[in-house]
Amino acid sequence: MNTMSKTLIVGNWKMHLNVQQSSLLVQHLHDLIKTHRNIEVVLAPSMLSLQPLSLQIDSRRFSLAAQNAYYIDEGAYTGEVSFSMLRQLVDYVIVGHSARRLYFHEDLEMVRDKVAACVRNELTPILCIGETKREHDAGETKQVLGDQLTTALANLTSEDMEDLVVAYEPVWAISSGEDFASHIVDKPEDVAKIARYLRSIIADLYGQFIAERIRIIYGGSSDAENAYAFLSTPGINGLLPGGASIKPQEFAGMVAAAERWQHAKLKAKAKP
Ligand code: PGA
Repeated sequence: MNTMSKTLIVGNWKMHLNVQQSSLLVQHLHDLIKTHRNIEVVLAPSMLSLQPLSLQIDSRRFSLAAQNAYYIDEGAYTGEVSFSMLRQLVDYVIVGHSARRLYFHEDLEMVRDKVAACVRNELTPILCIGETKREHDAGETKQVLGDQLTTALANLTSEDMEDLVVAYEPVWAISSGEDFASHIVDKPEDVAKIARYLRSIIADLYGQFIAERIRIIYGGSSDAENAYAFLSTPGINGLLPGGASIKPQEFAGMVAAAERWQHAKLKAKAKP
């Protein structure tokens, strides 16, 4: 089975949970989430918790992701952690999250350089793209996503593209973390259109084969309740929850939805 047919659930813990709290959450998750060969569950805790969690997690059940890294491998960049320092510690790095673009002024070129550094260091980028509310309301969604995607991929070869994950996260659907349940969520049918559009851009750049294989996941107030609807959306291969990822039952509910979806796919395939 190729990675494409696996469902990917990535929990972005953002700037929540200290080392001890992170360890407790993982304990809970071990109790609630079992290994499933068609589902990959990735945890993205704070940078500080990566090392201890790498020793704690059952690596057959969970992979780790960093939420960010710096694109230069080494040097006088006080406060930064490079992609090269994350080698062998994580499998994935989230790149270009809207919080990074918004609060830390990461522009299109910096995101491009981070994606390239990630791939150079043999880590898999989870490239986040998404339009703001203003851009959405102004009908600029496609333009914005097209610019973000093509710039971010500018230095990648077809080979580099094989593992890449694109996370479509409309900024207006992302929760502030305070009350994630009350936030607006995108509509699965609109997300399907966006996934099709993103694959068409990738097809133009790298061909149809890669465009079909690339994993596109959705993020923005996803939770246990809406997970199945997004997972069964055509062109969507997984989810990137934030608020829901630090609530063990909620996160486990999302993985359970992924199991139900995988089961439904297998059943449909088995039909004569
Ligand atoms: P949310 O966050 O699920 O809390 O909206 C998603 C994200 O920012 O990655």
